[in-house]
Amino acid sequence: MTDAREEDRRLLEGIRSWVEIESPSTDGDAVNRMVGVVEEALGGVGLDTERIPGRDGFGDHLVARTPWAANEAGVMVLGHLDTVWAVGTLEARPFRLEDGKAYGPGIYDMKGGAYLVCDAIRTIMEAGDRPPLPITVVLVSDEEVGSPTSRELVETEARRAKYVLVNEPARPPYGAAVTARSGWGRFRLRVRGRAAHAGSDHRLGRSAIAELARMIVKIEGMTDYERGVTFNVGTVRGGARPNVVPEEAEAEIDLRFADPADGAELERALLGLRPEGKDIEVEVLGGVNRPPFERGEAGTALFERAKSVAADVGFDLEEMWAGGVSDGNFTAALGVPTLDGLGVVGAGAHAEHEHIVVDRLGERSRFLLRLLGSLD
Ligand SMILES: [Zn+2]
Repeated sequence: MTDAREEDRRLLEGIRSWVEIESPSTDGDAVNRMVGVVEEALGGVGLDTERIPGRDGFGDHLVARTPWAANEAGVMVLGHLDTVWAVGTLEARPFRLEDGKAYGPGIYDMKGGAYLVCDAIRTIMEAGDRPPLPITVVLVSDEEVGSPTSRELVETEARRAKYVLVNEPARPPYGAAVTARSGWGRFRLRVRGRAAHAGSDHRLGRSAIAELARMIVKIEGMTDYERGVTFNVGTVRGGARPNVVPEEAEAEIDLRFADPADGAELERALLGLRPEGKDIEVEVLGGVNRPPFERGEAGTALFERAKSVAADVGFDLEEMWAGGVSDGNFTAALGVPTLDGLGVVGAGAHAEHEHIVVDRLGERSRFLLRLLGSLD
């Protein structure tokens, strides 16, 4: 048991060093410091690394390939190095260990998973026995904000791959893999009415808030749990002061849907919203960002293989549907067998209680190593 605990501790130390390099999606320079460390780690063990410069203020994306069978379709290992946590979070909530759980910004989503991948690759390279398929590691810098600058890269690499393994967090509480995810859309609704004095000229005003309120009822009414469709009006803003008929109001909307065929229709419904009141303008921006990741036959077969590898390692791998999205949505939608949620066991993604379970690190690492070695 001592050995296993030592292995957990070794992995935890490595993960800690990555957690302590803060890398919020919106700070390209910060993310690039993280990218540099990973580039060096993978390049240092003999992978061919390529850094794709970030655009629009985002950090760079990293692609690292094992040097054998470069022209064959191989395993794409996908993840991200950005987190949702601003620089400074670490100072307020430093890395800490408590009751077998390790806490820190981005430790679960997904510094832990990214570290396990790089550690497994290092082991493979040092051992010198090549897995049957070449491996391409793709780590992007803008996943947490919808992958605006990396989607094309992810899809291009996925088209060349035989399998995609995504090292996003394993699902709580026991670390299930993810074999399906919802599709996702994001919209912003802007309403413009006409301001007027609420006392003397109320009749002349056109309330943007009243119009937005009517639209919100309509939008939320399109939620259909049976169909796996939810609309969430998550934020609203509007008006200037109580004695003025509000000229402006806006809302942000989050759409989730299970059936790919629904995406375009729901997007059209939202983009086509028109005001009921007169002299009011409505603008709807946004659209579907990620198609659903459906539980297809090829993905299921890949899960079954992973399950048997997990059994060899000594644990039971379960599968789950996840409401959250990942870049696995892009690759699965292309029809490439994709298995997600292969990262660390823990809970609390995007929340302050984000943590990983330390005594499952070694097990997850051995699992990943064997899985990479067994896919052919
Ligand atoms: Zn993530």
